[in-house]
Amino acid sequence: MSNSSVTMDKLVALCKARGIIFPGSEIYGGMGNTWDYGPVGVEIKNNIKRAWWKRFVQESENSYGVDAAILMNPRVWEASGHTTSFTDPKMDCKKCKTRHRADNLIEAHSKGAVNPDLMSNEEMQAYIQEHQVHCPVCGGFDWTPIRTFNLMFETSRGVTDESQNKIYLRPETAQGEFVNFLNVQRTTRAKIPFGIAQIGKAFRNEITPGNFIFRTIEFEQMEHQWFCKAGTDEAFYREYKQKAMQFLLDLGFKAEHLRFHDHDKLAHYAKEACDIQYLYPMGWQELNGIHNRTDYDLSRHQEYSGKGLQYVDPVDGSRFIPYVIEYSIGADRLMLAVLSEAYEEQTLEGGDVRNVLHFHPAIAAYKAAILPLQKNLAPKARQVWNNLKRRFPVIYDEAGSIGKRYRRQDEIGTPYCITIDFETMENDTVTIRDRDTMEQVRLDEEGIVSFLLEKIAF
Ligand code: ATP
Repeated sequence: MSNSSVTMDKLVALCKARGIIFPGSEIYGGMGNTWDYGPVGVEIKNNIKRAWWKRFVQESENSYGVDAAILMNPRVWEASGHTTSFTDPKMDCKKCKTRHRADNLIEAHSKGAVNPDLMSNEEMQAYIQEHQVHCPVCGGFDWTPIRTFNLMFETSRGVTDESQNKIYLRPETAQGEFVNFLNVQRTTRAKIPFGIAQIGKAFRNEITPGNFIFRTIEFEQMEHQWFCKAGTDEAFYREYKQKAMQFLLDLGFKAEHLRFHDHDKLAHYAKEACDIQYLYPMGWQELNGIHNRTDYDLSRHQEYSGKGLQYVDPVDGSRFIPYVIEYSIGADRLMLAVLSEAYEEQTLEGGDVRNVLHFHPAIAAYKAAILPLQKNLAPKARQVWNNLKRRFPVIYDEAGSIGKRYRRQDEIGTPYCITIDFETMENDTVTIRDRDTMEQVRLDEEGIVSFLLEKIAF
């Protein structure tokens, strides 16, 4: 397990109880593999996205953001190859009518010893027969043949039936960055190498069980494409592997919970590819991907759109289609990793148990909670709250014993609790309790601001 006390059931229960993540469309009985972020969860997820954007756009020497449309000209998906090859090998269990991915069945059956990525559909079918791979749901052994299943969600546009055209909900954000390559280059006057980043929704008609927010049919991706000259690509690929890993370590992940997984089987256009895997409660799984995509994407878009996408080198006038190093990470999959890594069920002296989310203060929904020790201190506490909330996301709570209020904040990962007590009325100082150590220090109001600014910096 990723840490000693976390299980998926405990995370799901905590998220639901504390307004982090709710089942999607819950009052209608839910909808498989969809989840809604609640008041605390939306803040945490926004902070994760902000930290990523800060690192890969704001602090990058030469990277620029875009926010492209989800619905794109369907020719985009022909050029990218998604209409023909964005497929999963599915099998149905005839006994319990559940649907499965043949590659996942083989991987689970062989406990990772066999790599189904290297097998054709016929080879997978033969393996399942030969090794008698049974249905993980009902235990039966009565499979339909493998059929390929396109993961793109289709919809249509147009007001009358005759004018209807099939279009797709994008299955990845990357194509929005590729089709805007020249727009961004021209308007920023960026010179190669440079990057284009985007955070946005993507949709995949996933047929396998989700493992909470690990695999959903609607999710957010954070993608960064680095455009460079052929010949420099391998060094940049190595650099992005390290940058992707460093970002996770800086967020507070333990190095032993992360590992690189280099791909044996590469997509036909890819020169090198790897994932970073995280030790989730259900085991090692892909958290993000880094790919050397060569000049495949821009060449294909040049061919299918008929528009020249060559870069002209301002120094020597040479024209070329750049290579692309892609770094892609799911915001929701990262959120699940952040929650798993942060979760602790801690037994305190005296036997009390508290649940704590120990994540980086930059990720916390609220940087501090303002708590009057007693109700009659509320006016002063509200004054402190009003001053602080203009500068930081902070929360006010006067309901229940101080111990219970501390526990509520621990459970949503609020890093600091600011308590207004009788001494506050005398000398305008407050106590600040640290979520992780539970130690307290006294500070004046000026002191709180610089204290919080320093602690939440990422
Ligand atoms: P997997 O093999 O787990 O399906 P993938 O290799 O198809 O993932 P990519 O197409 O490389 O994934 O997508 C990049 C990133 O987007 C993944 O590393 C993951 O973080 C995220 N992602 C992909 N599919 C999903 C999904 N269904 N739900 C949540 N996040 C996803």
